Amino acid sequence: MLDMKWIRQNHEQVQTVARQKGIKISIAELLAWDEKKRLLLQETESLRETRNKLSQQIGAFVHRGALEEANQIKQRVKESNERLAALEAELAGAERECDARMALVPNVVSPDTPYGRSDADNVEVKRVGTAQNFAFEPKDHIALGELHQLVDIPRGVKAAGTRSYFLKGAGVLLHRAVQQLAVDLLLRKGFTLLEVPLMVRTETMNHTGFFPLGEDQTYRVAREDKWLAGTSEVPMVAYYANEIVDAEQPIKLAAASVCFRSEVGSAGRDVHGLYRVHQFAKVEQVILCKADPELSEALLQEITANAEELLKCLELPYRVMAVCTGDMSQKTYKQYDIETWMPSRGAYGETHSSSNLHDFQARRSNIRYRDEDGELKYCHTLNNTAVASPRILIPLLENHQEEDGSIRIPAALQPYMNGLERLIMK
Ligand code: AMP
Repeated sequence: MLDMKWIRQNHEQVQTVARQKGIKISIAELLAWDEKKRLLLQETESLRETRNKLSQQIGAFVHRGALEEANQIKQRVKESNERLAALEAELAGAERECDARMALVPNVVSPDTPYGRSDADNVEVKRVGTAQNFAFEPKDHIALGELHQLVDIPRGVKAAGTRSYFLKGAGVLLHRAVQQLAVDLLLRKGFTLLEVPLMVRTETMNHTGFFPLGEDQTYRVAREDKWLAGTSEVPMVAYYANEIVDAEQPIKLAAASVCFRSEVGSAGRDVHGLYRVHQFAKVEQVILCKADPELSEALLQEITANAEELLKCLELPYRVMAVCTGDMSQKTYKQYDIETWMPSRGAYGETHSSSNLHDFQARRSNIRYRDEDGELKYCHTLNNTAVASPRILIPLLENHQEEDGSIRIPAALQPYMNGLERLIMK
């Protein structure tokens, strides 16, 4: 959420960003409703004051035996109450119109965000490692998964429908190993680990900036005012909702959780294998810090570097992309995606997403801190994937396969795989 006063002063900029992010909203309409709301509020308050003064006079007239005057005033109070009820209803309506539009207002973007319409316009800022040229015909992760009995998609679909899967045996071990490797890496870097609730209130989805625009991406729990979180960013940020936090040092949180996504709008896209599924696991980094743009920019670089470190541990080639306006969500101020080389796609595929939201999310969630002068300010919030699996298993299996069909396990992962150095066909 942006500050209303700021929107009034910068309405053209906000309208431009909405257009660039593909959000349908008329800022002029928002401002008109806001103006109407303020006028109605003033009128309501002044009428309430008049009514209260009149009411106080009634007793005095009655006391003096001036019953006719008392009745006249009573009549005026009654009329005021009727007008007040109508005004209050009108005010509530204007507030609803205003709130509905405010919920759609996008965050502005950093000056170095590239302009573009879709992920095709994202700009590569860094490439690390090189895709190896296989001296044999490499297999894709599904063929490798079947060969080593790591993945069973047909039975996943049988049990749970499209975009579902079972992991099996060493496939499960790998899935858990990459998560624990990521958790341990974040613990070493001073993150506090949380186990989070994954069924969250509608209010929580709104306050963290995932609703209303992301509602169709989210599964609702039947008969409850609850939703299955698509990322632990939601409960981690909500942890501090409506609180005044100590932001002297950045607050660094991490969680490993299951994530649920309806993937509405992705029909027909990435239907092969484990790339785009309805349920996956993610280790997520979330940071809350002071509203200092230099500090939050440094922290964005830091959480991006954490993800890069993980990929280096996994010995995978990747590139970092500056995400363009048209590929950014409503709440994002600046974003990098990390894409990892996936041989079966002959391309890099997105495995991490690193965002600085400035105070947009904290304003919606009402998370503040007291600065040096005692003034209350909204925090900046940031988030990034540390690892998401099973998607990461695609590059892991495919890049580390060898001609005999075995799969090399990177040294950093071996301690989490009971020392296993490679997967060999049984
Ligand atoms: P996001 O939380 O949308 O920024 O996504 C973070 C990471 O989670 C992505 O870069 C992917 O690695 C992974 N991810 C997101 N959506 C899916 C999905 N539907 N299936 C598998 N992995 C996903």
